[in-house]
Amino acid sequence: GGNKQITDREGLVKLLRWHFGHSDFRGKQFEAIQAVLSGRDCFCLMPTGGGKSMCYQIPALAKPGIVLVVSPLIALMENQVTALKEKGITAEFLSSTQTIHAKTKIHEDLDSGKPSTRLLYVTPELIATPGFMSKLNKIHARGLLNIIAIDEAHCISSWGHDFRPSYGKLSSLRNHLPDVPILALTATAVPKVQKDVIDSLCLESPLLLKSSFNRSNIYYEVRYKDLLDNVFNDLSALLKSSGDVCAIVYCLERATCDELAAHLSKHGISCAAYHAGINNNLRSSVLDDWISSKIQVVVATCFPSNGHYLRQLCSFRMGIDRKDVRLVCHFNIPKSMEGFYQESGRAGRDQLPSKSILYYGIDDRKRMEFIISNAENKKGQSSGGSREGSSKKSLADFKLMVEYCEGSGCRRKKILENFGEEVPPSLCKKSCDGCKHPNQLVQYLEELATIAAGRQRSGLSRLFLSSSNDKVGGEQMSEFWNRDDEVSCSDEDISDSDDGIENAKREAGCKASRRAGVNAKIELLERAEERYYRNQNSDKPSHKSDKNA
Ligand code: ADP
Repeated sequence: GGNKQITDREGLVKLLRWHFGHSDFRGKQFEAIQAVLSGRDCFCLMPTGGGKSMCYQIPALAKPGIVLVVSPLIALMENQVTALKEKGITAEFLSSTQTIHAKTKIHEDLDSGKPSTRLLYVTPELIATPGFMSKLNKIHARGLLNIIAIDEAHCISSWGHDFRPSYGKLSSLRNHLPDVPILALTATAVPKVQKDVIDSLCLESPLLLKSSFNRSNIYYEVRYKDLLDNVFNDLSALLKSSGDVCAIVYCLERATCDELAAHLSKHGISCAAYHAGINNNLRSSVLDDWISSKIQVVVATCFPSNGHYLRQLCSFRMGIDRKDVRLVCHFNIPKSMEGFYQESGRAGRDQLPSKSILYYGIDDRKRMEFIISNAENKKGQSSGGSREGSSKKSLADFKLMVEYCEGSGCRRKKILENFGEEVPPSLCKKSCDGCKHPNQLVQYLEELATIAAGRQRSGLSRLFLSSSNDKVGGEQMSEFWNRDDEVSCSDEDISDSDDGIENAKREAGCKASRRAGVNAKIELLERAEERYYRNQNSDKPSHKSDKNA
């Protein structure tokens, strides 16, 4: 209560203890809070789990008035608002999912001279509506709009991995409300994205705060599929030996998700598949069951970067809020280090020891290279953009990921160097396989190199007749090829076109005439194999018939 503003460290720490039970600020939290309370713009770069929300939640308690929080996902807003209300902090969110009654109540509160709401969460779409902007102006005119916090601020940049066009509308905030300090928060460290965010939001000499991206409580390990007898069994053994812990397993394809989830269930592991081919109701019940600990393991697809955000929502990436994830497993190599960092970073948000385990396979690598080149080609063709540049960039991104897997030495160092961080030798403290078992790792890599050389000699056709339990099908290809085409996206949109092997050959043949020679032959072979495999799998029920079931 009262009209006092708290700005001193001691007072702010008291708020932190009283409302959230944390003993002191972590990392750069205090600096961020101090900056925005003094009216300065701030750009806050902190890894996932770094405690970004405190940077605007404490200011909301330190000063009478409202902190506006822009957040990309309704689920994310709901989560935070519920958590705040449980702590007795008055927070609300405005979204299309609310009843008219609920909205009216919130608007009445905002219109009053003394709103009880301390934090108001909204979507970027709402900011863009003229009615809402004039409401903000009115609140501001009464001196009650203290800070605008932009969560997941990287969504404004088309260079980022979660680009959302609606975030572009946020650039009007500065024009309409020039003297309200803006706090931009993100876990995306790419310098280009950083610059984009600052420019797009028109931040004025913002205080730049960057925390280390080291996740000291995560143990990093790579397991080599080509050296394992059975990858499915290895994963189920890993989960079992870890106890009944909370885990996320990311796969490239839906089919792998389904098979893996079935396999794990059969071995007594409480788990479910989660991907775009599962109908909405089931998907949200899986998410609910996982968040409420009824299910411990979720096997999900990881859509690669720059897909439509709804697809990313489906891909179990943003907005996951379970702090006790002990294990994040990548069953296939991710497309980029950035994606890998974000996904593995879902582990151990409670700061307790956790693991990131990546299953790496030679065939997975080849497949991903093929996918990246093709997806980029297609994108280049449809947008008329520089496909070669784009493809090169994606392949370069992927190469870092391959180096993470195929290199000896410290994994942590490889991750952090990607973010431009210096890594002192003592940093890892043997919490990766490269530091803990360096000799064994070198031996594995030698064996892997031998196998890879053998494959090279035996020819390319192995590409789609690949090893282990990981089925290869055309579905994954068409997912990648389709994913950037639609502006709107629903389950129905995520479907697989059903042309047969003849079409595949014709398609490849067209290219063959353009690109004569051996390359075209390889491509023809690859495409034909890929379609062939899809046809082999076509006796499986498609997600469309799932829905009717
Ligand atoms: P981010 O949004 O950066 O991913 P969150 O804001 O969700 O991170 O915070 C991650 C976790 O860290 C939460 O469980 C939160 O309660 C905890 N946390 C935040 N600040 C502190 C602090 N100063 N001391 C201890 N725990 C904290």
